[in-house]
Amino acid sequence: MQPITQALLDLQEIDRKLYRVESELERLPAEVAQREHELAQIEARIAELTQQAAATRRDAKEVEDYTVGMRQRQRKLESESTKGKIDAAMLASYQHEIRSLKRGISEAEDEALRKLGAAEAIEKERAELEQRLAEERRIFEEFQSNVEKELAVAKARQAELLAERQSASAEGVPPEALELYRRLLKTREGEALSELADGHCQSCFVQIPRNLGVRLAKGEIVQCPSCTRILYRTF
Ligand SMILES: [Zn+2]
Repeated sequence: MQPITQALLDLQEIDRKLYRVESELERLPAEVAQREHELAQIEARIAELTQQAAATRRDAKEVEDYTVGMRQRQRKLESESTKGKIDAAMLASYQHEIRSLKRGISEAEDEALRKLGAAEAIEKERAELEQRLAEERRIFEEFQSNVEKELAVAKARQAELLAERQSASAEGVPPEALELYRRLLKTREGEALSELADGHCQSCFVQIPRNLGVRLAKGEIVQCPSCTRILYRTF
């Protein structure tokens, strides 16, 4: 094997592990943030339902207060009607008003009941969400403490690998090849090299034109035309 290829393969060995560790270091906090966001959404919904329930109960109370006024008026008219000194026209008018008050009271009572029912349904939904939130928080706390442990392990491993890479020699690798290698590490998920075997790139399985194989044999840096990884042969 070409010494340049061998040097890059040695680096790749370390960088592959480093890539995985660094992906973990990015993924774990992102997952914590995502879960925190989900908890905040539940909390916001609970606050919304709390407000809705209070507003609906206030509405119901207003309707009830309104029926109190109508009942007072009804009782007053009823007592006026039983006093003897009232003429027939007045009595008829009182009775008409009493009938319409009774209708109004009955409708208002129905409305107040409907509103109370609605408030109870909202409060039930809120209570269920609060229970879910408590459960989700418990799960989250467990998850978070696991993440902290995993992060500590990953950071230690990252430091080890960085030290290992520091001491790995890239001697004999031309700077432009090294730069290409580093760029590919980033864009190709930590795999900058790919084996050429049976005429195919072993990463993307595209067929490699013969002339590229010839150039590779001459010791040139050759990239796969499809996945752009640096090709190597193991023999
Ligand atoms: Zn390829």
